[in-house]
Order: sequence, then structure tokens, then C-alpha cells
Amino acid sequence: MTVNELIQKLEYYLKNSNNVNYLADIKILIAFFMKTSLAKLYAIQNDKINFKINDYWQQLTAYRNGKPIQYITNYQNFYGYDFYVDYNVLIPRYETEELVDNINILIDEISLNNGNKSLTLIDIGTGSGAIAISLGLENPDLTIYASDISSEALKVAKRNIKQLNCKNVTLLEGDILEPFIKNNVKADILVCNPPYIPKDQSISHRVKNYEPHVALFGDVDGLYFYREIFQNWQKIVKKDGILCFEHGYDQKKALEKLVKEYFPQQEYYFKKDINKKWRMLFINIL
Ligand code: GLN
Repeated sequence: MTVNELIQKLEYYLKNSNNVNYLADIKILIAFFMKTSLAKLYAIQNDKINFKINDYWQQLTAYRNGKPIQYITNYQNFYGYDFYVDYNVLIPRYETEELVDNINILIDEISLNNGNKSLTLIDIGTGSGAIAISLGLENPDLTIYASDISSEALKVAKRNIKQLNCKNVTLLEGDILEPFIKNNVKADILVCNPPYIPKDQSISHRVKNYEPHVALFGDVDGLYFYREIFQNWQKIVKKDGILCFEHGYDQKKALEKLVKEYFPQQEYYFKKDINKKWRMLFINIL
């Protein structure tokens, strides 16, 4: 069977997979099975496939049943870097690249105002390490500590640090602020993309059945982690620090109420993502 013939066969097989990306994904999957790149697949479309399709049938069925392609290929690009991902970590989202972008700008501004004072950043709940590692690679002078409560997630982050040759990220295991308090880390910048989906919110089967719940759900209203951090940030952030968060598209109002309660004296602002959804919160500690 040739590559083209297999593409046609899979178009038929995966037509009802309920995934709007299935046509593009078929080519990604075949390139992955052929151990080649997507770009090269076009050049060999009339060649015979170099694998036994029966060996991959299980994976194709899993895809048809809703398994995210990233958990099959073990790969997601984030901020221009190729990250290893598996079912122990949330698949990094495009919205989160915007958080990284905004933090990069903040780091440039702070460095400009403070000479070359070396900055410390902490990333709470790092998962695959996407935020911490891309910030580390973009800002080699930054000192970064990234935590996760899941030791399995930290194994993935460690693999990505090595794979991407990132020199300035240290991993810590533990819940929310605890590992930073224990290690006496005080940050200039706190970053967190916490699990923020309300416990009972109905979400897509693809997300709910495959991604780690510890990285998705944040209590009844999805705000548990923000509350914990708002209550105790002083223990891990310096006086003139900045707190940066991602949040759910419909959480701005509820979060703003919390910010007013916990930070009556501080400056804060929200930002929208590229889809014009409120997505990020920044609090400047004055
Ligand atoms: N943005 C993710 C989603 O909508 C949720 C990630 C998170 O809870 N931080 O699936």
C-alpha cells in the first residue's frame, strides 16, 4: 500500500471520529508511523508505506475514539519549541503561549528599569514545563524554579529540560506554595496556569477522558488555586514582585472580585487572548 492509498483508507476510517482536524491529523500520524517529517511525506506520497498497518491499528482506533493526537505522537510544539508530552501532563495550549509572550515583555521592561539585576521567577504547577522552559530558553539570565505536585509530571518536565538543553530551570516537587517556602525561594515574578475548570463543568470528551484531572479542575468554582496563592503570596514573592496568571474565559468577573478583596492596595489588569477572550491576570505588588 502507498502513502496516498493509506491516506484515503484512513480518511474513510476516521471520517466519524468527531475531530475537525482529522484530515490534517491523518498525515501527521502517517509521518509519525513512517518516522519521517510531515514536510517530507509529500515527497514520498507514492512510495510504499514502510510499516505494518496492523501494528498501528490500536492507536488509530484510540484516535478515532477521541485520544488527542499529542498523546499518540508524544509531541506538542509550544512557543517554537518541541515538547515531549504524555498522559501525565496537560497538552500545552496556544492561549498559554500568549501568557509567555506577555511575561517576556514584562521581563524586558523590568530589566530595562533595574539595570541588569538578576531576576527569579517561579512557575507553580509546571506540568510538561512548557511555560518555565520556554521562558528559561528565551531569558538565559533568569533563575527559574518550577513546581508540580505530580512526580510523574516532573519526570516529563525533566525530560524536556534535557531535550531542549535548558540550563536555568530547577524543578521542585510539592503542592502550590509549599515547595518554594520549604526551599526558601523568593521570586520577582510568580507565574501560574492553575487547574481552573469548575468541578462540574461539562467539557469535551477529548479533554475529560484523556488529560490529567489534577491539571484541569480547580474545585467547585475553579478558583481554588487563585485563592490559595492570593492568601499566601507574601511567603514566596518579593515586595515589588509581579503575579501572572492564566484563567478561564468566563472567570474575569469572579477573579476581579477576589483581587479587590485580597489586594486592595495593588495595581492589576486583565488581558484578552487572540480569540478576544479574557484570559490573563497580572497583579503588580507596589
Ligand atoms: N485551558 C484548558 C482547557 O480549557 C484548561 C487548562 C487549565 O485548567 N489550566 O482545557
